[in-house]
Amino acid sequence: MRILVAGGAGYIGSHVVKALCNRGDSVVVADNLVTGHRQAVDRRAKFYQGDIRDHGFLSALFQAEPVDGVIHFAAYSLVGESVTAPLKYYENNVGGTRVLLEEMIRAGVKKIVFSSSAAVYGQPEQVPIEETAPTCPTNPYGETKRVMEQMFRWAEQAYGVGFVSLRYFNACGAEEGGAIGEDHRPESHLIPLVLQVPLGKRAKVSIFGTDYPTKDGTCVRDYIHVTDLAQAHLLAMDYLAQGGKSDIFNLGNGVGFSVREVIETARRVTGHPIDEEESGRRAGDPAVLVASSQKARAVLGWTSCHTALDDIIASAWAWHQAHPNGFEEEGRS
Ligand code: NAD
Ligand code: UDP
Repeated sequence: MRILVAGGAGYIGSHVVKALCNRGDSVVVADNLVTGHRQAVDRRAKFYQGDIRDHGFLSALFQAEPVDGVIHFAAYSLVGESVTAPLKYYENNVGGTRVLLEEMIRAGVKKIVFSSSAAVYGQPEQVPIEETAPTCPTNPYGETKRVMEQMFRWAEQAYGVGFVSLRYFNACGAEEGGAIGEDHRPESHLIPLVLQVPLGKRAKVSIFGTDYPTKDGTCVRDYIHVTDLAQAHLLAMDYLAQGGKSDIFNLGNGVGFSVREVIETARRVTGHPIDEEESGRRAGDPAVLVASSQKARAVLGWTSCHTALDDIIASAWAWHQAHPNGFEEEGRS
């Protein structure tokens, strides 16, 4: 297939680009590099630097590169920033998706797989969370993902664009080859921040809240390996290509680990003592987010290969050890 990957220079997008190239798909990447890295894009893919909010850029791109479908990652995704700058998030995440949809419709492209998030659920009433659970985001970031999903529902009805929304839980790890991995700036995710301690880049890791109603008082999350996420995008695109109906799928391992358990596992994997400090809760954090991915298994035939937290953290550690400055040492940040 010929696939346009919007946001394909980012963490998850670059892993999907590589997986698509590996199976012989023809891949075009569109990315404005606001948080992504040019070096993360597989050399077999064609790269266009530009912004999905730019009608002219996208319309020329669709003309030059006829594609069968789009996989869409391009968004801002810092929960804390979304609380202080919500309109920035609506403008890029919702506005960018609107322009992308308009240009897809103009170009006659009728299939899209896109990144949603566990953040659409907010504080869940039940875990593991099924796709039918109420969506009540606790921050503007999650709200923009919910709005995007609704936009796709209405656009499908009006224009016949089939979509798959993938609600990821906590993406982490790096591909086995060691060429690409996580390099967010600023970094806000727990596992890379924990690993910055043994890398000598941070004295200690903060634990955001120790009074949650969980096994050890710290937040519990479902950590899912980035290459398992990547495979789900390929399956979702195949599903649409085979006439599958538009739908929403959770992607997680179905097992929750607390912040303390993540830090303890990182100590074991790295062999380094990792200092921690207890600090207050981070605004907008639900206590427990654990996915039921039964639907993705049943409908898409998806399975996750990396279920042990030790292995997931070991793959992240291998990347960070080999690239302590992320993609910076390879030319630019
Ligand atoms: P990322 O920031 O590494 O990747 C996003 C990419 O999109 C970057 O390369 C960025 O340069 C690009 N981009 C942003 N706005 C753009 C625009 N207007 N035009 C063109 N390119 C643009 O983030 P990620 O961690 O890889 O996440 C990818 C997607 O998955 C995001 O939509 C995010 O909300 C979602 N998500 C991520 C996680 C996670 O744990 N990382 C969890 C759930 C959902
Ligand atoms: N967290 C933490 N210290 C940090 C970063 C994160 O205690 O320095 C916690 C955070 O409060 C959440 C969990 O780790 O409960 C996972 O956070 P992350 O930002 O990685 O992902 P999120 O669950 O917010 O998508």
